[in-house]
Amino acid sequence: AKSEGRNRFQFYVASVDQAIRERKHLERDLDMALAQRQFHLVYQPQVDMDTRRVLGAEALLRWHHPERGFIPPDEFIPLAELNLSIIEIGYWVLDEACRQAREWMDQGLALRMSVNLSPVQLRQNNIVDVILGILRQHDLPPSRLELEVTETSFMQNLDDAIGKLSRLRDEGIRVAVDDFGTGYSSLTYLKRLPVHHLKIDKQFIRDLLANEEDTQIANTIIDLGRSLSLDVIAEGVETEEQSVYLVNRGCVMAQGYYFSKPVDVEQFQAFIDTFETT
Ligand code: C2E
Ligand code: CA
Ligand code: CA
Ligand code: CA
Repeated sequence: AKSEGRNRFQFYVASVDQAIRERKHLERDLDMALAQRQFHLVYQPQVDMDTRRVLGAEALLRWHHPERGFIPPDEFIPLAELNLSIIEIGYWVLDEACRQAREWMDQGLALRMSVNLSPVQLRQNNIVDVILGILRQHDLPPSRLELEVTETSFMQNLDDAIGKLSRLRDEGIRVAVDDFGTGYSSLTYLKRLPVHHLKIDKQFIRDLLANEEDTQIANTIIDLGRSLSLDVIAEGVETEEQSVYLVNRGCVMAQGYYFSKPVDVEQFQAFIDTFETT
């Protein structure tokens, strides 16, 4: 029994060791991924379920690793935030998303582009000027860009975040609170935040009709948005029942697999054509 215990211990050490090694490899690969053009963006439609208009897209980052294949953002973004490579990667995402938004504009499409902004990016002193510079470079009107920030962005330095987001808002950029309800949202600070938009996190939408608590949370966020004059969008809508419920409850904006998964530009165009004519 004693030797068994030791074996188990050695196995444990070996697997932790391996996990650390893998993480280091991934971090190293992450640092080269930009230069080697291994990233691309996909776009998930945000729709008005009532008028059946496509309002815009959320740009979502994809990493195609040369050996390991597709690595989901939930795996590599936390790592990129730790080693700060998210700053350069995030810059690339903004640039590429704004380029695409400008292309849609040139095609006569009235679409807004939503881009995820990491708390690490928001903490950068020059972030406001960086974003305004990218808009100028693509000659993109600021109202075409929406930044999605999570509640963690406000936790470390609320005044700093409010200051930067106010400047961005004053320039005409829209700001959405992503994953709303999962963090430390407090009504006191929500009132102070220069935001336009709340995104109900998909964890509350998943069991919307089966779980009474989730129904109540979604209802509360919808009502909160109405009383604070904030737009509310539901994320992770997967079924017709969920969509019908939300529309009846007064939340007409949605994003989710029921409408479309994140897709490339060609598929996005095809989605607009079918969604808006049915
Ligand atoms: P998020 O910002 O909350 O993005 C929404 C996620 O939900 C996306 O996952 C999307 O594909 C997924 N989703 C949308 N509709 C549905 C649905 O109906 N059902 C289900 N099950 N999932 C749905 P994805 O693309 O894997 O991204 C995961 C997270 O990675 C994002 O969550 C965001 O936090 C982060 N991320 C992705 N791209 C970027 C980026 O460019 N910059 C930063 N900082 N973070 C990013
Ligand atoms: Ca998001
Ligand atoms: Ca979200
Ligand atoms: Ca998330």
